[in-house]
Amino acid sequence: MTDRYAVIGYPLGHTISPAFQQAAFDALGINAQYESLETAPADLPERARELRAGKLAGINVTVPHKLAIVDELDHVSEIAHLTGAVNTVSVTPDGLLGDNTDVGAIETVLERAGVPAGIPALLLGAGGAARAALVALLNRGDRVTVANRTHENAATMTAHIAPEAGCPTLALDDPDLPIRAGNARLIVNTTSIGMQGGPAPGQSPLPDGCLHPEQTVFDIVYRPSATALLEQAAAAGATAIKGLDMLILQGAHSFRIWTGREPPVDIMLAAGRRAMEG
Ligand code: NAP
Repeated sequence: MTDRYAVIGYPLGHTISPAFQQAAFDALGINAQYESLETAPADLPERARELRAGKLAGINVTVPHKLAIVDELDHVSEIAHLTGAVNTVSVTPDGLLGDNTDVGAIETVLERAGVPAGIPALLLGAGGAARAALVALLNRGDRVTVANRTHENAATMTAHIAPEAGCPTLALDDPDLPIRAGNARLIVNTTSIGMQGGPAPGQSPLPDGCLHPEQTVFDIVYRPSATALLEQAAAAGATAIKGLDMLILQGAHSFRIWTGREPPVDIMLAAGRRAMEG
């Protein structure tokens, strides 16, 4: 029997998840089909019923369902609880389990890029993706400062996720931002600034002139693949990491959860990059 997996969201639009997940199933000879399943909010309970009935073997969950799906599940992992978002659902003997693989994906992206752990980091943003990034950076032992358009959201996020870490926070328009950026060895952008079709396309969250060659800049925005922030990083001689790899690696972590098999990461990365170019 062919196992069915899917990504659910609404509206779903074009997603590259089927391309790299199917490539992984095929590479390991697993009889499975991964599809994109547009799912309106009212249909979330039906998806959960399909999982319980064995009609779906696992799902990835994207906007706007990452919070609402929790109501349909029996358990969530500690990381999903901490980040407040579920992007992967698996079927276990104890029922439906929600997980958040963005955290592991960010850790893997930084590890693959050879970014040393335990360094001063500046996290830009305080939305859903920022929560995953904050957990990942703290797991690495980085000393994190958070800057966000709405300062209060940064303070609320750090207080909720890691009250004991005492992460400094500031507003994105704080005059100290260029200095804080210059002091960081790692900068991670999780704001929507620079996103194609987003609130500030073509723009960067940082002013010109604060980056330098000893830094790594990771922009999780993946459309366009080279954002204005990454162009600033390249011009300054800093190491630039694109968001697309994170998108594919969160899927690789989901694959491991569903199948218990080691995901063929390089095959998934190649298939995802090809699908993005197409
Ligand atoms: P979100 O929860 O809506 O958070 C948006 C963040 O961007 C908040 O920090 C918000 O600040 C800030 N922001 C929005 N508009 C802004 C503007 N005009 N000026 C300054 N700051 C602004 O969104 P999200 O789910 O975290 O996603 C954020 C981005 O990450 C999106 O581009 C998404 O595509 C990308 N993403 C990529 C991956 C991947 O796998 N590569 C995974 C998840 C998300 P306020 O708090 O002030 O509103």
